[in-house]
Amino acid sequence: MIQITMPLNFLGSMYRNIRQSIVDMEDMFFLLEQPAEIVDAPDAKPLRVTGGTVTLDHVEFAYDPARSILHGVDLEVPAGRTLAIVGHSGSGKSTIGRLLFRFYDVTGGRLMIDGQDIREVTQDSLHAAIGVVPQDTVLFNDTIRYNIGYGRDGASYEEIVEAAKKAKIHDFIMGLPEGYETQVGERGLKLSGGEKQRVGIARTLLKDPPILLLDEATSALDTQTERGILGALKLAGEGRTVITIAHRLSTIADSDEIVVLDAGHVVERGTHDQLLKAGGKYAAMWAAQAEDRDAAAA
Ligand code: ADP
Ligand code: MG
Repeated sequence: MIQITMPLNFLGSMYRNIRQSIVDMEDMFFLLEQPAEIVDAPDAKPLRVTGGTVTLDHVEFAYDPARSILHGVDLEVPAGRTLAIVGHSGSGKSTIGRLLFRFYDVTGGRLMIDGQDIREVTQDSLHAAIGVVPQDTVLFNDTIRYNIGYGRDGASYEEIVEAAKKAKIHDFIMGLPEGYETQVGERGLKLSGGEKQRVGIARTLLKDPPILLLDEATSALDTQTERGILGALKLAGEGRTVITIAHRLSTIADSDEIVVLDAGHVVERGTHDQLLKAGGKYAAMWAAQAEDRDAAAA
């Protein structure tokens, strides 16, 4: 019995590790993917954030000229409000996030923050204004203190602890043998998905960006962990402009506005209640996910 299960368990954990690394790589790509041709305009100025209003004005985009991905997308997220983008896989949701970071330039229309075209500001200032909390936070082989402090150069120990408290991971850290000096990552203590995500939230809180971009991965945490994380994210989003790219609609039902993207077109927009009443695509997606929610609640 033991002889059979041990190798199987070993293979299982190896498979999970490899799979996890691939997921982390995807986040790294999301964060780091930056085509070399995107350079600051010669007269680029630092972005002046007054409130964090994000505007997409007739945005057109194609990765490849032969295949258009976004078709005249108009969106406005007023400062401090929340927008959720939903739609089937491949509809262009993550692309909007990449354009906001200026990993690519729009091929038509413009994207603005507080009225400034993002092509006219320095990329450093643009990236400083936007925080991302990926579902799978990449950990460095270093202390947990370093991993949180990475959110902002020169953050003090007190500020790191403050961010960890807000992300509700401070108590967990204090329970570790070496507290904030505990080594984590592949060569140190392995954190669970939920713990890693809280580190990611703490990092972002430390960065304190006016705009928050959340790109939900499809991989699900268990329901209870998920609830805790959602609570921490809600807190992290307070007083910021929040754009959530969502898969599970239950997590974004209270957004100020929800837009449904379909093959690069905004096909519906409104609040959760308005969209349910409209009885269109959103209502159909909501009904389809109700089954999963009932199953999870049972
Ligand atoms: P979503 O997040 O809604 O699932 P994406 O924005 O990731 O969709 O992708 C929209 C479309 O763009 C898809 O058809 C996808 O295959 C294509 N796409 C995404 N990234 C690239 C890329 N780097 N190069 C070419 N096509 C891409
Ligand atoms: Mg996506």
